[in-house]
Amino acid sequence: MKKGKSLWVDTTTLPSFPTLEENLKTDVVIIGGGLCGILCAYYLQQVGKKVIVLEKNKIGMGITKNTTAVITAQHDVLYAKRIKKDGFAKAKQYLEANLLAVEEYRKLSKRFNFDFEEKDSYLYSTKDITPLEEEVKALQALGVDAKLVDEIPLPFMIKKALKFPRQAQMNALKLINQLAKELSIYEHTNVINIKQNKVYTDKHFIETSHIIVTTHYPFLKRWGMYPVKLFQRRSYVVAIKNSNNIKGTYTNLEKAGFYFRNYQDYLLIGGNDEKTGVYQKQYENLVAFCQKYYPNNPIAYMWANQDCVTLDDTPYIGLYSHFNKHIYVATGFNLWGMTQSMISAMLLKDFITKQKNKYQSLYRPHRPIINKKLFLHMKSFFKNVVKPLKPRCTHLGCSLVWNEVEETWDCPCHGSRFTKEGKVIDNPATKNLYF
Ligand SMILES: Cc1cc2nc3c(=O)[nH]c(=O)nc-3n(C[C@H](O)[C@H](O)[C@H](O)COP(=O)(O)OP(=O)(O)OC[C@H]3O[C@@H](n4cnc5c(N)ncnc54)[C@H](O)[C@@H]3O)c2cc1C
Repeated sequence: MKKGKSLWVDTTTLPSFPTLEENLKTDVVIIGGGLCGILCAYYLQQVGKKVIVLEKNKIGMGITKNTTAVITAQHDVLYAKRIKKDGFAKAKQYLEANLLAVEEYRKLSKRFNFDFEEKDSYLYSTKDITPLEEEVKALQALGVDAKLVDEIPLPFMIKKALKFPRQAQMNALKLINQLAKELSIYEHTNVINIKQNKVYTDKHFIETSHIIVTTHYPFLKRWGMYPVKLFQRRSYVVAIKNSNNIKGTYTNLEKAGFYFRNYQDYLLIGGNDEKTGVYQKQYENLVAFCQKYYPNNPIAYMWANQDCVTLDDTPYIGLYSHFNKHIYVATGFNLWGMTQSMISAMLLKDFITKQKNKYQSLYRPHRPIINKKLFLHMKSFFKNVVKPLKPRCTHLGCSLVWNEVEETWDCPCHGSRFTKEGKVIDNPATKNLYF
């Protein structure tokens, strides 16, 4: 069994690119070569822009390498809640944007082979079905051909499942591999600053008209107040061998539940999500689940991953801050970054080419958000920042938590992670630890 390495990394080869060795000039610089950055670059290049992607390590090897790559507009129970909170029109906008993203992947699959497969997407419950009943009504009212079913091909009892038809799954690294061949990319090129219209590494700069920050957690903390409105959740995945075909993608409604998808003859099972820095035997729970329900299927891979979470379940895509009209951001995908990365690419292309896009205001990063999540996030920050324990995060000084299973120092405030030796693994921290 390969622990700490995803199935995708082991089975996909990515091309290599040079390091930036000179000063350059271009139309658009994209900082961060994950799925989001690569899609933004591809779509901008398609409309004639000269684009350069700068990646501090290797493309695809950030959060994207550990995704499960389900492409769906069914983001847990969302639409019923949204209609109640934001109204029918906004819920419909969110749905439409995500369905357009699914369609865009379908179009790309005609040109590129990235193991795109159409799948129905299911949300199941093993306990209370009221949320599913509310959700199916909401989806039907919004025009989705959704329905409740009694059975799904998983080896445990469920109460009901909500079927959302014609969604999809893919291999995100395979897509990056193919798109990247058409792009201008510099790897092992860490961006340390932006000043006016120049993007700086420690030795060189690129002069440009537009800058897009797709570094997962935005790396510049002096603008945009992202630490106030963004934290990270960690989730755990295994891939077991010799699986049967489950013919769909499945997510559990309950918090401690699991999600499922096939890839070739593997079955990926994930779940036990928690805020980064909170550990409750997540790997052990997954292994116990596999031993109980799939005793004859060996675990081939086991890995963990995290994603940025916003305060109102909607990503931040648009201007990085009020102060800079040429710097954009795409972040806060709430563990649904396949469709949200595609939406980012569409929106930011339209921003830069001055086209109207009806989803811009929905995703505006600087919309006012005052809710319970904001209060809880700030409370957690103050609790961890005053805790007198060492080591402390180099981002904003929170006391770090030792993650025994992965042997890393993790920040419970904003999700920065460091190796045992103190090297930064995950943003927003940009500096290594000093013990
Ligand atoms: C376990 C798990 C499963 C998931 N499964 C799904 C799923 O099934 N469906 C779905 O829709 N979503 C899923 N997601 C979410 C999805 O994987 C992410 O939202 C998405 O991959 C994020 O992509 P990204 O491009 O924003 O980030 P990344 O892939 O992290 O890309 C950011 C890049 O920026 C680079 N970078 C950072 N700082 C700098 C700098 N200063 N200079 C240059 N480069 C820099 C990094 O090295 C990195 O390569 C899942 C998330 C988790 C945690």
